[in-house]
Amino acid sequence: MKLRIAIQKSGRLHDDSIKLLKECGIDINNGVNKLKTEASNFPLEVFFLRDDDIPQYVEDGVADIGIVGENVIIEKARPVKIAEKLGFGKCRLSLAIPKAAEYNGVKDMDKLRIATSYPVILQNFLNQHNITADIHEISGSVEIAPGIGLADAICDLVSSGSTLFMNGLKEVEVILKSEAALISNDNLTPEQEALLQKLLFRIQSVKKAKN
Ligand code: ATP
Ligand code: ZN
Repeated sequence: MKLRIAIQKSGRLHDDSIKLLKECGIDINNGVNKLKTEASNFPLEVFFLRDDDIPQYVEDGVADIGIVGENVIIEKARPVKIAEKLGFGKCRLSLAIPKAAEYNGVKDMDKLRIATSYPVILQNFLNQHNITADIHEISGSVEIAPGIGLADAICDLVSSGSTLFMNGLKEVEVILKSEAALISNDNLTPEQEALLQKLLFRIQSVKKAKN
């Protein structure tokens, strides 16, 4: 029996996910363009997937565990457990508007067109503040939406803020703070659970050694 872990195929979380497994003493040969690979010294099978698909695969039990951003976990709202926060992939989901626009608080978002890839989280936030806005869901390059007249504001992931700056935008509200997390299926077998605990023990040791 092997534990199956889903990690991002390529993108911002890929390298740090592989690095974490290596720091846990797990040897995997991450050949490019591979769909999956196996560890040579731990009963672990690694699946390479798009980050957006990872919560669903873990819920369905196609993978037992996965590494994905909390932003994606919350947006997808799948019944999976967060086993451990991992301390990398740190970012925030924020509202941003054109640099020159006036801003006096969340109320200013009322009736605006807001472009985002996170419609669920944004809608919840707007509801909490009793704001009605027109959410435009787009899957990428959200930061260009105001410049091309598609939206008045955006709700997007930010880390340094340089992408916003380059697009003439300013961050006005932080909706969510996020980092990568290890998620697990709700119904692991006792055998799978034992392997997960073994992996978690190693992850926690790696984290402690860094503090
Ligand atoms: P995929 O092809 O797997 O769908 P993607 O383009 O959706 O990839 P990435 O841009 O690689 O995703 O980001 C993956 C995750 O990295 C994000 O969901 C988020 O948790 C985290 N992250 C950290 N900093 C940033 C940032 N500045 N911008 C976007 N994501 C960030
Ligand atoms: Zn994605």
